[in-house]
Amino acid sequence: MAETMIKPENSDLTTKERIRSVEKTLSIIKPDGVSRGLVGEVIKQLEAAKFQIAAMKLIHMTKAQAEGFYAVHKERPFFDSVTTFMSSGPAVVMVLKGENVIAEYREIMGATDHKKAAEGTIRKNYATDIEKNVVHGSDSPETAALEISYFFNRFELVD
Ligand code: GDP
Repeated sequence: MAETMIKPENSDLTTKERIRSVEKTLSIIKPDGVSRGLVGEVIKQLEAAKFQIAAMKLIHMTKAQAEGFYAVHKERPFFDSVTTFMSSGPAVVMVLKGENVIAEYREIMGATDHKKAAEGTIRKNYATDIEKNVVHGSDSPETAALEISYFFNRFELVD
């Protein structure tokens, strides 16, 4: 009986709106997170948050690759230091997928400076300074698209 059927959540949205609300973001477990054995812990939190892992690999960036990734910060005083850090060892790069995942993942990461990060966040719990803050997450849909394409081609992403 049609009138007693339970409507799926957001059923008043058009298909197009539902598709648009699903985002992708780039996540990195930085070299400090990998060398300190925090890969499992971070991924556990991503799974608990119900983010879909759409791509994942271990990489070791060269200094030039790290400079390209953080090109937006090239005038900042910490540019040389952060790109040396990012190229200092293996890192795990992932594409996360989900509704509102860009903002939700940044919330789980916590503020850049771990001293200012909220209780329970990854950076509050595990970062050791403002630079060695364990994780990266894109900050907007535009940045996410650029950052994902920096590390992954479309055949490496699962749906
Ligand atoms: P995020 O989006 O929270 O990662 O922060 P930003 O985009 O502002 O900075 C990129 C990365 O550069 C941060 O995650 C840190 O690893 C590093 N970083 C940011 N601010 C500083 C700083 O003041 N000093 C140093 N040494 N590194 C910083």
